[in-house]
Amino acid sequence: MDNPKQHNETAHIIDINPELRNIGFADGVNIGGALNDSEKKVMIEKAAVKFGEFLEALGCDWQNDPNSKETPQRVAKAYVNDLWAGRYNAFPKITTFPNYEYDGIIFEGDIPVISMCSHHHQTIMGKAHIAYIPQINQEIIGLSKLNRIVEHYARRGAIQENLTVRIHDAINKIVDSNKGVAVMIEASHNCVQCRGIGHQGTSMKTSKLTGEFIDSNKTRNEFYEFIKS
Ligand SMILES: [Zn+2]
Repeated sequence: MDNPKQHNETAHIIDINPELRNIGFADGVNIGGALNDSEKKVMIEKAAVKFGEFLEALGCDWQNDPNSKETPQRVAKAYVNDLWAGRYNAFPKITTFPNYEYDGIIFEGDIPVISMCSHHHQTIMGKAHIAYIPQINQEIIGLSKLNRIVEHYARRGAIQENLTVRIHDAINKIVDSNKGVAVMIEASHNCVQCRGIGHQGTSMKTSKLTGEFIDSNKTRNEFYEFIKS
């Protein structure tokens, strides 16, 4: 593993929190890490065959329907390349930079969360709000890397609680000199909206706060004010 603290270097961290691997979180470690293109192709082919069988079990004559003929292939591709892409790709390269004088909150809000619930394989759509407080003469993360961390963990079967923890812990580890990390996710769950209870318009909020975001009311309030503004 590269040293995540090397300034202007990239850090390549695949496994942030091994003890959470299989707890409500369909993670990439089960398949031994990132797949190359030909491994993805094999996976798509296998999954397409099984999805065809799944449709047949549901009484769907998909092979004779022009709209469904390629559906098993499309669904398998969507899982491997998009919906669960975070499972099959390596953790993104994270660039950090030296921080000479800033010791306030670094906040990025409204980061899109596009995920899928592990329980029902329905979409989870929402936003993540992230903040951390760097130390002077230590490092900060390139801003867009926060988006990449969210993408990496969201793009798989997940439950929102664990997604929140994973994102928090990744930032906490990459900028391990931080004085606090805060992650808040608000998202709507299609499994609540379109099946079972069928309630539209509900959303779930989760947060994980550490360091000054717990110890200082002022800092915590500032985080929530940033989210509102
Ligand atoms: Zn669900």
